[in-house]
Amino acid sequence: QHQIHIIGGGLAGSEAAWQLAQAGVKVRLSEMRGSGDMTPAHQTDGLAELVCSNSFRSDDADRNAVGLLHQEMRTLDSLIMAAADKAKVPAGSALAVDRDIFSDMVTKALSEHPNIRIVRERIDTLPNEGPTIVATGPLTAMSLAQSIGAATGEDALAFFDAIAPIVHRDSIDMDICWMASRWDKVGPEGDGKDYINCPMDKDQYLAFHRGLIEGDKTEFKEWEKDTPYFEGCMPIEVMAARGVDTLRFGPMKPVGLDNPRTGRWPYAVVQLRQDNKLGTLWNMVGFQTKLKHGAQVELFRTIPGLEKAEFARLGGLHRNTFINSPRLLDAQLRMRKAPHIRFAGQITGCEGYVESASVGLMAGRFAAAELQGRSLETPPVTTALGALLGHITGGAEASDFQPMNVNFGLFPPPEDKVHKKQRKEAYTARARADLQGWLNGAGEVIAAE
Ligand code: FAD
Repeated sequence: QHQIHIIGGGLAGSEAAWQLAQAGVKVRLSEMRGSGDMTPAHQTDGLAELVCSNSFRSDDADRNAVGLLHQEMRTLDSLIMAAADKAKVPAGSALAVDRDIFSDMVTKALSEHPNIRIVRERIDTLPNEGPTIVATGPLTAMSLAQSIGAATGEDALAFFDAIAPIVHRDSIDMDICWMASRWDKVGPEGDGKDYINCPMDKDQYLAFHRGLIEGDKTEFKEWEKDTPYFEGCMPIEVMAARGVDTLRFGPMKPVGLDNPRTGRWPYAVVQLRQDNKLGTLWNMVGFQTKLKHGAQVELFRTIPGLEKAEFARLGGLHRNTFINSPRLLDAQLRMRKAPHIRFAGQITGCEGYVESASVGLMAGRFAAAELQGRSLETPPVTTALGALLGHITGGAEASDFQPMNVNFGLFPPPEDKVHKKQRKEAYTARARADLQGWLNGAGEVIAAE
């Protein structure tokens, strides 16, 4: 007999299940993949499948907000971070993983946990009773999304995300491309040569830019036309349409990349990042697109070095679903109207793998404390966890709520005057001290009878 029902075995649901099970709570984890259902972006039945990039972004805990979030999650026994650390592949100063090894490790850890029962089933309505965590993600099955809409009294909001193509390594012409990180920057796992770089001269770039603008695209349906893009995942052709040089200052930036054959920076560069541990698959960095598949193959094979490219996956475009959390949820992620239900992950309006998992971590810890009669304060807003939670549950204006990656803008500014150059370190040092304070007991107190 389970004590809590988690719906959705993605990044957030998996982390929440782990946290609860580790605290001694019996969990039923319902995942629809593996029961004959699929989302438009997932490709396997594995738990915590990464649907697009294989990167958890910066791992720099001193100067970067997502790096700090990694560190805080590691401190709190995160399964997602433990699996990511074990499945990591070279990616400069970023933390990138082999997606199959990563998902297998999460699936195995949860399957083997004595407190977790994984059930392959689709849930179509919000349960009327019993502690529940809804972690069904941006591609929540339609029937459940409608049930959530009915319970919250408003339609779930939607916007668009696009995914980037993946290329087979042995189809890339290394007589034209070369391996290098920008400025030869050496990360913890790499050697300063982590990316495959494809050089373009001016004529090639201009022709490519024209191809992006003129290429055949998947058209929006009438009702989709006003749906905005999330800036971090903007299709390459939308960026191209902003100006002829926009890409040269964005994903095709050549600075810091000396072409060993000319000794100079090219006019523009296409970069590919290792996508699996074997090094057989490489994804085109920043090349999310809604070009039709035929048009993608034709245009991307005009990139020098990719003339014979074979694609393991082409780019695509998907809908994203999230609720108006500042209006609907309390500070511990409970639905105000139905407090037996918590929400976690991207559906709460955070953005990103790490952020989704971290909200799952918090939902799991809050739920475990509640079930065990402990009171658990929310993490201080000066920590990455607390800052993100604050954005979701209170900080943002409900009328203009948009999904957000974790960033220092969500933290209260340091109280003391700090020189601009030391500002990031000031945020992260304060966060570490305050997280420790929270862990040292300010946080977890046994509730008085
Ligand atoms: P998910 O990981 O999607 O997990 C939700 C789970 O719930 C899924 O396994 C699904 O099968 C299951 N489910 C859904 N409905 C039901 C139901 N009714 N019953 C039972 N199970 C159900 N973030 C990044 O950091 N980098 C990226 O490159 C990136 N690319 C993205 C590309 C796309 C196309 C999308 C849609 C999102 C992308 N994101 C990316 C955003 C986000 O980080 C991921 O979607 C992340 O997986 C969200 O975690 P989650 O746990 O909230 O949802």
